[in-house]
Amino acid sequence: MTTAANAAVTHRTVGTAARAQAVTKRYGQGETAVVALDRVDVDIERGRFTAIMGPSGSGKSTLMHCLAGLDAVSAGKIWIYGRDGVASELTAMKDKELTNLRRDRIGFIFQSFNLLPTLNAAENITLPMDIAGRKPNKAWLDRVIGTVGLEPRLKHRPSELSGGQQQRVAVARALAGQPEIIFGDEPTGNLDSRSGAEVLGFLRRSVDELGQTFVMVTHDPSAAAYADRVLFLADGRIVDDMGAPTADKVLDRMRQFDAHGHAAHDQSLRGDAHQR
Ligand code: ADP
Repeated sequence: MTTAANAAVTHRTVGTAARAQAVTKRYGQGETAVVALDRVDVDIERGRFTAIMGPSGSGKSTLMHCLAGLDAVSAGKIWIYGRDGVASELTAMKDKELTNLRRDRIGFIFQSFNLLPTLNAAENITLPMDIAGRKPNKAWLDRVIGTVGLEPRLKHRPSELSGGQQQRVAVARALAGQPEIIFGDEPTGNLDSRSGAEVLGFLRRSVDELGQTFVMVTHDPSAAAYADRVLFLADGRIVDDMGAPTADKVLDRMRQFDAHGHAAHDQSLRGDAHQR
């Protein structure tokens, strides 16, 4: 069967959840233009936890936003792959199609928990599915709630929960719809280190036990250590790709960037234009 949505499929990849090919993102025009991403190629592996690190202004958030279809690229292509390996090219989609794909196939966790204050935890968790008119899979929902340890708190409103518990609600909300990929933008940025560790532990379990694919932007080496893989960005390029990270290894790698956040070999090539 050929439909408009799959007519553009050019390849299938089962082990990959998302792919960026020669992605460039430019902000502004002419002399003042900032190249936030500079011909980035990357594959995000399915069922794994990938962290994106790098100095401030290196393009971490921009890369995540482009991969998640929240921001348009200036050049290059982005694909999201179904569990069957079928590719959907985000960069070829019209707005409506992209909105539907984000709603149905991508989960998000932000630094601010973004819970609705008038709804209790259970209602917040199912809200996106309620809006989309989708019935939650009860067995899956119970498993997600069990994984993040929220059973005793389901009737509580956000104001009655700690920051860590609120972020666990946001994690459960992202997991509930069984998205193909979840993106987190500094998801522990507003939490104390104990609550942060707890939330990262649950995210780790969602990858190990529920097979979730998770991509997280962070500037915190100990948060990145929860990942299977750490991509390092500098000046809008991926300059390193580390497997089996530890906080010490990540910290050592971060120390190799100079005070302005440039990769050492890149200093002579780039001005300060990318700095905030
Ligand atoms: P990071 O997440 O690593 O701190 P960002 O992806 O936020 O980096 O930003 C990368 C570069 O793009 C920075 O130089 C930043 O100032 C610039 N940038 C990001 N968003 C915008 C925007 N909306 N308009 C102009 N420049 C931007």
